Amino acid sequence: MKMTETPLVPLATLIGRELRIAKIEKPSIKYGQAGLAKKGEDYFLIKPDCQRILGNPSSSFSVFAIFDGHNGISAAIYTKEKLLSHVMSAIPQGIGREEWLQALPRALVAGFVKTDIEFQRKGKYSQLCFAMFIAGETSGTTATLVVIDGLTVTVACVGDSRCILDAQGGVVSLLTVDHRLEENVEERERVTASGGEVGRLNVYGSTEVGPLRCWPGGLCLSRSIGDMDVGEYIVPVPHVKQVKLSSAGGRLIIASDGIWDALSSEMAAKACQGLPAELAAKLVVKEALRSRGLKDDTTCLVVDIIPPKHIVLPPTPGKKQNMFSSFMFGKKSQNSINKSTNKLSSVGVVEELFEEGSAILTERLGKDFPWKTNSGRCAVCQVDQPPGEDLSVNSGSPFSPSRKPLEGPFLCTNCRIKRDAMEGKRST
Ligand SMILES: [Zn+2]
Repeated sequence: MKMTETPLVPLATLIGRELRIAKIEKPSIKYGQAGLAKKGEDYFLIKPDCQRILGNPSSSFSVFAIFDGHNGISAAIYTKEKLLSHVMSAIPQGIGREEWLQALPRALVAGFVKTDIEFQRKGKYSQLCFAMFIAGETSGTTATLVVIDGLTVTVACVGDSRCILDAQGGVVSLLTVDHRLEENVEERERVTASGGEVGRLNVYGSTEVGPLRCWPGGLCLSRSIGDMDVGEYIVPVPHVKQVKLSSAGGRLIIASDGIWDALSSEMAAKACQGLPAELAAKLVVKEALRSRGLKDDTTCLVVDIIPPKHIVLPPTPGKKQNMFSSFMFGKKSQNSINKSTNKLSSVGVVEELFEEGSAILTERLGKDFPWKTNSGRCAVCQVDQPPGEDLSVNSGSPFSPSRKPLEGPFLCTNCRIKRDAMEGKRST
């Protein structure tokens, strides 16, 4: 049994590398937050000073997240408290920055699923960790978690709290996918295929109202954390996208659906263009309220990724808006040069490193796990498996002749039960 494929790098070498990388490309992060509560079920997380190697400031990265709860606040609070540490514990120790970034998408999947399993377990057995956990807990939450390391942005989401990117150069793109039954055909088909019933609320026996929901439970989302009263096909497996910004940096707007039900991505970006992050967040909220009123919890985070040592160019006369962005991002406004090559230039601005949205846990954890966890540690919850129960994620029955225990990461019994339930193989 091979324990590891790559030799460990000495810490001094690792820190040396990190310092060189930090010197070359570490941009600074400026952020702002604003929001207005209607139901008080939106939560957010701002951690601008995390470290990959504890005690080494040059290995720093930032995390921003939004959790939009429903049917109560327990799931949103629990996810805010636990999600990040569950993701981080799924990344192998002692690896360099590049490997860390490569490991992140898979760790995000593991962390989201672990958070859901633990929340449901706590709810089920009504443990007294949180006083609010009572039997019959039915709350759930969206989760959009953004990890920024240098110019690399990794976004994981379940639900409909979007994250958009306004890359300098005026290209606005969506980094998340809405897991809403109303709008997402693929998700609707997946839920139906797994035994869920999708339809609208029926009043007086005939009139259908509101968005498409999943029954039983009546949830409009197809993915979430929590939601013990709905079927297991409402999964916590996140859509993950990883991009690398150009050296010009960019702006992220992360917000709950209170914003996105009122504003398109372009409208939100435009509402705050060129303004400092703190003011920008306030303006996005204000713009959403102006067009729709306070119908829902409305929370907005604006995060600017600003390249280091940029040259501040003198403002172009007569272009007020570009003056601001030139100041913030040290970038000359692009105007007449790329008139007909809009598409090409937009590809050049942001490099797409990774994107995967499958709801199938087996696919997301992958066969080709680069650091084979043959030690028997569960790839989802990081719990050591008792000897004799070494089931891999790819094996079917433990007695199947085609079983290949060395391929793919291990799942403990609990996580295996969860996987099977999510994939419609068994109900819990
Ligand atoms: Zn496990």
